[in-house]
Amino acid sequence: MAKLRVGWFTFTCSEDSSIVLIELLIKHYFEWKEKVDFRYCRPLKSKNLFDSFDVAFVEGAISNEREKQKLLEIRAKSKYLVATGACACTGYPSAQRNDFPEQLSAQIEPFIRRWDLYRKVLRVDEVVKVDDKVDGCPMIEARFIEVLDKYITQFK
Ligand code: SF4
Repeated sequence: MAKLRVGWFTFTCSEDSSIVLIELLIKHYFEWKEKVDFRYCRPLKSKNLFDSFDVAFVEGAISNEREKQKLLEIRAKSKYLVATGACACTGYPSAQRNDFPEQLSAQIEPFIRRWDLYRKVLRVDEVVKVDDKVDGCPMIEARFIEVLDKYITQFK
C-alpha cells in the first residue's frame, strides 16, 4: 500500500500542535508507520525531504514575508493543505497584536522593524487555499485523526 506523503510545517506559534502530534505518535506509531510517510516533520526527525506532499499540515499564523513565501512554496508542492491549530485557522492567539491599541502598537514598533514583521498577522487562508481545518488551541486530537484518516483512505 502506498503511504500518504505528509509534510508538517510550523510558522508563528508556540508549536503546541507539534507536541500533540508527538503525543499521538505514542499511541499511533505502529499504525501510522505503515500508512504515513512523514517526509518533512522537524519535530520528528532531523533529515527532511522538501519535495512533494499529498497533504501538508500547517501550524501557526503568518507574520512576515519570509513565512508567506515559504507557505506559497509548500502550497505549490502539496495536493492538499490543512490549517492546523487555532493560530493557523483563525490567526489567534498569535495575531493578538493586530488588535493592540495605538499606544501599545507604538511600543512594539521597534520589534516589528527589527524582525521585519508584518504589522498585521495573517491566517493561513489569507495567503493560500486551505482544504481542511483542524481547529483548537492546541489542535483537537480527534479532529486531526479524522482528517488524517480521510486522506489516508483517499490516497490508499
Ligand atoms: S493554536 Fe494555541 S497552542 Fe497552537 S500554537 Fe497557537 S497558541 Fe499555541
